[in-house]
Amino acid sequence: METRIDRFGSVREDKLNQLKELIAESKYIVFLGGAGVSTESGIPDFRSGAGIYNTESGTKYRPIDIIAHDFFMEHPEDFYDFYKRKLIYPDARPNKAHKALVRLERQGKLKAIITQNIDNLHQEAGSKCVIELHGSVYRNYCMDCGKKFNIEYIASQEGVPHCDKCGGIVRPDIVLYEENLEHENVDNAIKAVKKCDLMIIAGTSLTVYPAATFAQFLKHDRIVIINKSSTYMDLKALLTIHDNVGEVLDKCVPKRVSRQTSSKTSAKTSSKSTAKTATTKKTTTKASSAKADSKSASKKETSKKETSTKEPAKKAPAKKAAAKPAAAKKATAKKAAAKPAAAKKATAKKPAQASASKKSASSKAKKDESKS
Ligand SMILES: [Zn+2]
Repeated sequence: METRIDRFGSVREDKLNQLKELIAESKYIVFLGGAGVSTESGIPDFRSGAGIYNTESGTKYRPIDIIAHDFFMEHPEDFYDFYKRKLIYPDARPNKAHKALVRLERQGKLKAIITQNIDNLHQEAGSKCVIELHGSVYRNYCMDCGKKFNIEYIASQEGVPHCDKCGGIVRPDIVLYEENLEHENVDNAIKAVKKCDLMIIAGTSLTVYPAATFAQFLKHDRIVIINKSSTYMDLKALLTIHDNVGEVLDKCVPKRVSRQTSSKTSAKTSSKSTAKTATTKKTTTKASSAKADSKSASKKETSKKETSTKEPAKKAPAKKAAAKPAAAKKATAKKAAAKPAAAKKATAKKPAQASASKKSASSKAKKDESKS
């Protein structure tokens, strides 16, 4: 790995070396990422100066008010007008951060990527162990019959997209304000955190629940924070690096692993991840089904506080588990009821598959890269 010779950057180099060592000695790494992971792909974050919340929405409403359940139900046209302009970036491609995490997973060290992002870039890069806390703009479903639609369908429809089967409104499978996170996702995230021997928190200001609380489940202090600005966890972390996520990870995650190790571990992880994705899908569909009743009472329970700390786009109305992980579950449980049968099947495949094919090509490329 190239070590940059920069006499003014010695502190930084020390930190990078420290991160390399931490990664080398860890066997179960969990990565928790926020919008800062995707900004290097050209997707704006929400809270920084140039973030979505601080820019003109192009409508009379504030962005933070638009990305909310009630708003969506009452003003779908305005929602979609904003959504199509500001929340979907079909041209965005994975950056160095996403790619480094793919390497780390294939090396058998990274066991879970817990993301607040809804852009599918981890999967596109080739990651399998992704837990999407807030859903994905790549999944959409009819609120009446549950039929699934891809992002192209949404983008190609004028105004509010309607189901080509029943005419119902199609919505993105993301968690909006006033909606709760998928209970199973939160659960899986916490389980992974409890098991990990290193937690890397990156590209997030840690103001968004429940992600901000995950570190509480750690049984150690092996936390690394990589973020441009400081977070409330900085002092508790073993290592804090205020820098670009992609730059840092690219330098600190080895580009090459011995052949045997990598093939063995990748086989293992991929089967595991398959299982995981399967469950994710299940939950997703559940979520979508429940959506219909979403506007009901439950969303109201979600306290304004919690919701306001959440990031923009979120999952389907299904379960209202939002804020604190523990409490979340109870609240959640019930809503699952409905689920349209059709929905489930449809959900499963895409992200994982798409990425799988790219995998071999990209790993080859990486090998070459590392040789040079
Ligand atoms: Zn329909």
